[in-house]
Amino acid sequence: MKKTLLLTPGPTPVPEDVLEAMARPMIHHRHEPFRAVVEKVKEDLKYLFQTDNDVLILGSTGTGAMEGAVANLLSRGDKAIVVQAGKFGERWTEICEAYGVQAIPVDAEWGKAVDPEQVRAALDQAPEAKAVFLQASETSTGVRHPVREIADLVASRENTVIVVDAITALGVFDVQTDAWKLDVVVTGSQKALMLPPGLAFACLSAKAWRLAEASDLPKYYFDFAKEKKNLAKNQTAYTSSVSLIIGLQASLARIKEEGLENLFARTDKLARATRAGVKALGLELLAPDSPSDACTAIKVPEGIDGAKIPSLIREKYGVAVAGGQAHLKGKIVRISHMGYVNAYDILSGLAALEFVLRDLGYSLETGASVKAALDILAS
Ligand SMILES: *Cc1c(COP(=O)(O)O)cnc(C)c1O
Repeated sequence: MKKTLLLTPGPTPVPEDVLEAMARPMIHHRHEPFRAVVEKVKEDLKYLFQTDNDVLILGSTGTGAMEGAVANLLSRGDKAIVVQAGKFGERWTEICEAYGVQAIPVDAEWGKAVDPEQVRAALDQAPEAKAVFLQASETSTGVRHPVREIADLVASRENTVIVVDAITALGVFDVQTDAWKLDVVVTGSQKALMLPPGLAFACLSAKAWRLAEASDLPKYYFDFAKEKKNLAKNQTAYTSSVSLIIGLQASLARIKEEGLENLFARTDKLARATRAGVKALGLELLAPDSPSDACTAIKVPEGIDGAKIPSLIREKYGVAVAGGQAHLKGKIVRISHMGYVNAYDILSGLAALEFVLRDLGYSLETGASVKAALDILAS
């Protein structure tokens, strides 16, 4: 019998009622019933983003919203500061370079959070930089960056905006778009939003819209001003991802019903339980100092062939986890605890991790991780 538990940091499991909503017969994206869906979703997205501004809905994966942020805000020859502390930080740099924007990297070791003082120094050195790009949660390393502190540094600079990839942060932990003065916040559907891949979102502040008006970079599909105009009529510029947006209505209803505060507390507990479980096996975390509650990155112990873990744990034990990317390939394992994941999923994931580590020759006390996680979950 095969039954797979999806504990990858995207895509994540999709709840049954969301699946059911997406299976309904097709409706037309310009007709009233669908516009009513968009109207509702628009309001609920504001709740999720903690903003009064509109949240644009794009038919792409999260990277589309990242690319759109660069293409809509910046102009030829602009400079931008990019926090690079993992695969997704590097993606900001690659997008900037594709558009002829000069990326000034602020590097942090993979597994460490960036120090806001590094960003302050970069801003002092290049005050003409139009934007600071970063991740709230760097999924490739399981690190949480100090977004609020960095936003404080940017807020006082009239001609610079902060652009936050919150793809594994929104719906995971507290990210206050308006209160923290985050100028652009983007996310995607297949992480904490409990949906299949295929939707991206972007929310812009008044300061960001002013910058967008001056932007001369080429854009067509990801034209934020065009999307904003259409959203005012409860539409998207092109054919809407109808079924996904109907699914979004169901997933946002779940989030609203639970309440952000409860959602963050629940996710935090699952994350703490996972970290405690891993440590009880004598394993080390890649990001012990600033872990993201989205996923836990675990260092593969010395002498164990880490490259084998993701396929073995999935094929033999029915749990899907992620390995490492780039130079961390074979060196880490990542277990997600965002979205539609509960305590029993985490316990199963830890049990499967014990099984696979034992198969690969690591000696451990059976049940130690599950026991440590249970102690946290029961508290
Ligand atoms: C998943 C993810 C993305 C987007 O990747 P897509 O494959 O385009 O959905 C971007 N940034 C972070 C931090 C992510 O976790």
